[in-house]
Amino acid sequence: MAELLEVVNLKTHFFTKEGIVKAVDGVNFSLKPGQTMGIVGESGSGKSITALSIMRLVPTPPGKIVDGRIYFNGRDILRLSEEEMRKIRGNEISMIFQDPMTSLNPVLTVGEQIVEALVYHRKMKKKEAWAEAVELLEKVGIPEARSRVKHYPHQFSGGMRQRAMIAMAIACNPKLLIADEPTTALDVTIQAQILDLMRNLKKNYGTAIIMITHDLGVVAELCEQVLVMYAGTPVEFTDVKTLFGNPKHPYTWGLLQSIPQLYDDEKQRLKPIRGMPPDLKNMKECCPFVNRCDYSKAICHRMRPVAKELAPGHRVACHLY
Ligand code: SF4
Ligand code: MG
Repeated sequence: MAELLEVVNLKTHFFTKEGIVKAVDGVNFSLKPGQTMGIVGESGSGKSITALSIMRLVPTPPGKIVDGRIYFNGRDILRLSEEEMRKIRGNEISMIFQDPMTSLNPVLTVGEQIVEALVYHRKMKKKEAWAEAVELLEKVGIPEARSRVKHYPHQFSGGMRQRAMIAMAIACNPKLLIADEPTTALDVTIQAQILDLMRNLKKNYGTAIIMITHDLGVVAELCEQVLVMYAGTPVEFTDVKTLFGNPKHPYTWGLLQSIPQLYDDEKQRLKPIRGMPPDLKNMKECCPFVNRCDYSKAICHRMRPVAKELAPGHRVACHLY
């Protein structure tokens, strides 16, 4: 099957007074229609900037996509005009954020915002769009949708706002939905409901999903492919079974060990990876993980590892291989 999304050597840098921050520095991955991929890594690993680059929403300046290609349905979206991109954004590619207020407009009712998208992208008549907005709110599990549709975002609870944002994101039946830590701020029950909602989207509409998370439990439940990022670079890319069953990168090992093991004794509960991520303004020609790695060799201090395909579909950037 042809790829829906192909990200090739993406580099997104930030030009600050203190220096160039290489927030994303050579990311590669691809996604087929209907597939779900997780992007995991600590904060500052470049997960969100990768997503914003795909949406072409990187704040410019100080940010800039300095290199790479992003093919969506075979078209390099980095070469589209802003006008053409607006037709794709919110229509073929949608994004949901950790904080719904980032994408909900506080001065419009939830219904008005959904209707706006339906009229602009799907060329619906107003009346038809209002009926569709109610249906969408029902679909994401908002009770009394018919009256709720006329409420403002601040009249919704946190969990309902998240649902409203998802309703808006799926209004135009996007081929790709990017979710940036959509459940982090929510309590466990609502988290589970939102994940269910995403699973249904995938099942019923064949929506491809990129799930950005630091929660490997979410990855295990939802994703087929996983990209592990560290310091702006991809360190491991594989299917979810291999990630948990046969992970190869020392950073991935560290992430897996840092999952809380509820039933183990206290000492084994949390095993944070020692040390700190490198300063993205001062990246050296070494492995970015070298100062935290228990397996480093001489070459790791001298040369940045390039990704190798260890098995079909399993790519790892590490000198151990
Ligand atoms: Fe560790 Fe070397 Fe692999 Fe980097 S390249 S993760 S330092 S073994
Ligand atoms: Mg983030």
